[in-house]
Amino acid sequence: MSHGPSRIPSKGKCIYCGDAGVELTDEHFLPFSLGGRHIIEKASCLRCADITKKFEQDVAREMWGDARISYNAPSRRKRSRPTHIKLHDPERPGRTVKVPYSDYPAAMIFYKMQKAGILIGSPENLDISGEWQFTAVCDDEKANGFESKYGMKLTVKFRHVPNSFGRLLAKIGYGQVLWTLGLDDFRPLCLPYILGARSNISYIVGGAFDIPPPTPGVGYNLRTVVVGDGARILLIALLRLYANLHTPVYHVVVGDVLGESSVRSVIAKLESVDVGIGAIGSIEAEGSHWLPNVWPLP
Ligand SMILES: [Zn+2]
Repeated sequence: MSHGPSRIPSKGKCIYCGDAGVELTDEHFLPFSLGGRHIIEKASCLRCADITKKFEQDVAREMWGDARISYNAPSRRKRSRPTHIKLHDPERPGRTVKVPYSDYPAAMIFYKMQKAGILIGSPENLDISGEWQFTAVCDDEKANGFESKYGMKLTVKFRHVPNSFGRLLAKIGYGQVLWTLGLDDFRPLCLPYILGARSNISYIVGGAFDIPPPTPGVGYNLRTVVVGDGARILLIALLRLYANLHTPVYHVVVGDVLGESSVRSVIAKLESVDVGIGAIGSIEAEGSHWLPNVWPLP
């Protein structure tokens, strides 16, 4: 689901490292492989594009590889895709079955996460991503058909890449906030994590363990919410990928704004845009999974 324009103009420098005067490439802030159509023009230098491409590919291949083929997700290299998958029967060792991808209800792996560490009030060096649990998301109808047609239980193959997954969410959240705000409007707390200078992604990325009902026909949901007071606000991106399936809702603490006049001007900018991308939410309206446990933060 997308609202508003599908591209916004360049910020004049790399949105990740701040380099100006270098070659800049367009940034699909929601990856093309996820159906993203939003582009920030000339937004990433080649060095930063290499970094972000790496964790995006990691997730697309290791967590969603088979699912992306079986649901015919967008890809830049569709023609080189395999047509069949070879599956091992988990209950009869030695038996393998070749199944066309169109019949294979491959599951996508997502992590269920607790709240981001910064919102819990944890120290930055406390990595809580070890408590993330994975959940397999698939099309139930297709899955039932598969078991009766091929006489075997469905299996999922994936590799655990929590850090790449968290960085992908952080990147999407950052792009979401930049859709409405300028680079100078806030301190981008998420940047060192996206670029890999800091490794504890669970400090700024989190979610809720409860999975809301799917929203039929909706590809993804993105919103910006704000929490804080007149002296400091946090900019938080809420996101749900494949909202039409049983996927978790995530939050990314993208950055903060300090000082009364800056806080006022940023809130004014966020209120002036359309609902959807850049919508500002109120604490009462939004539920609580992303609210800080303590305020001010330690
Ligand atoms: Zn850069």
